[in-house]
Amino acid sequence: MTRALEYVEALRSREISCEDYIAKIFERIERSDLNCYITLNTSALEEAREIDARLRRGGEGGFDGGDGDAAERRKLLLGVPVAVKDCISTKGIQTTCASKILLGYVPPFDATVVAALKKAGAIIVGKTNMDEFCMGSTTETSYFGPTLNPHDKSRVPGGSSGGSAAAIAAEETILALGSDTGGSIRCPASFCGIVGLKPTYGLVSRYGLIAYANSLEQIGPMASCVKDVALLLEVISVKDRKDSTQVKLPNNATTNFISEPILRMSEEDALNAVRGIRIGIPKEFVDGVSTDVEKAFWSAIHAFEDAAGAEYEEFEMRNMKYALAAYYIIAMSEASSNLARYDGLRYGLRFGKDEDWHATFSRIRGEGFGEEVKRRIILGTFALSAGYYGRYYLKALKVRTLVRREFEEAFKKFDVLATPTMPFTPFKLGERIKDPLSLYLVDVNTVPVNLAGVPAISIPCALSPLPVGLQLIARHFEEEKLLKVALAYETIRNAHTNNK
Ligand code: GLN
Repeated sequence: MTRALEYVEALRSREISCEDYIAKIFERIERSDLNCYITLNTSALEEAREIDARLRRGGEGGFDGGDGDAAERRKLLLGVPVAVKDCISTKGIQTTCASKILLGYVPPFDATVVAALKKAGAIIVGKTNMDEFCMGSTTETSYFGPTLNPHDKSRVPGGSSGGSAAAIAAEETILALGSDTGGSIRCPASFCGIVGLKPTYGLVSRYGLIAYANSLEQIGPMASCVKDVALLLEVISVKDRKDSTQVKLPNNATTNFISEPILRMSEEDALNAVRGIRIGIPKEFVDGVSTDVEKAFWSAIHAFEDAAGAEYEEFEMRNMKYALAAYYIIAMSEASSNLARYDGLRYGLRFGKDEDWHATFSRIRGEGFGEEVKRRIILGTFALSAGYYGRYYLKALKVRTLVRREFEEAFKKFDVLATPTMPFTPFKLGERIKDPLSLYLVDVNTVPVNLAGVPAISIPCALSPLPVGLQLIARHFEEEKLLKVALAYETIRNAHTNNK
């Protein structure tokens, strides 16, 4: 698998041509039956040719001198293909959220993260498939049909950022952006055997992200290795006045996260960095997971202990049993309000004629939204309605506070927490989609993280016969520590696989 860091180096030293690489990516996409993309960027090849030309020119007008612009030289993602989840606005490229209701909607502006990608020299490959409006864990609720898991095409890739994860695993891109409201980056990362990080709430701008449940979600990086995730995180965490919920960290940089300390770590540095760290393992996250997941999880923990001298301890987080129910009440309530803007007049789908606006509103929404989205709008509206507000929504908010406090308590004792990302390996397409409750249950280990707003990463701890993800969780804004621990684990795992 190509890594972004090595790719940029090879491109700058002109060992490879950007046009050839991007053309190869598009050939792979064309041949693929995985259904990773909804819309492709038709100007990608032209952009690649332009990059090659500027590199050839060198000197004046090139990237490495001439105009001497430091920002130009710092193009961290020069020529790197990046896939963007279809809930993130891209100027001039259709953005549908995998919903019929947004068919034909072409945003007139770029999301802040997309503008940042372009500034860093990245090439947008296209828009990836996902669960409709990010609602799901399998990418099966997409209006454009499901994405298949590259490890076994009869299985789901996870979701909702399933297209992004599968595209990386199948080498239909190098990097990808996903979004994570209750696990949508980590779940597909786990199921497709790649690395995905949900940043701390407030680290990355949400400007241009089509809202599902805004108090929970973040855009985040997905890649095949930890260093690439760090690199992409730096690029997208630019400080942005257009998102008032973004926390501007007090450093002198224009970005909230700096990847340099991670990128320059050798394997030895990575192992040294975690010597003696304390890993907490909340029992509630391990009880009840399938035996293959349990086995892979514990062998990862023991590898940490043996190779890096980390210490681990199991402990209890008693409020976690309420987290899943609280998450779904909060997410659906926010969704019912956020999705009110699709009225058949302003964006996307529009057809037929009616007597009045009410009829148009109902008809377009009735036909434009899929089953799962409608279910959530109805349940969310109910949870917020007079008389039930206190019984459901308010109670869920109280649980959220308890969950957050329990994480704070845990971090007084531990540096990071470790859990399996998903309770099982990828299941068959069609297996759970007809039973919403059984589908909601798969998020049990990922949603507490979003309720608390802390950062978490999923990194593969087994790849065969099917991928298993290890979830690491850290304190608010401790992405650097999280990535160091993940890098140490990646080092140990690679050494182990190479010795086999
Ligand atoms: N599966 C969860 C849901 O459907 C999480 C989705 C997400 O993170 N966007 O709400």
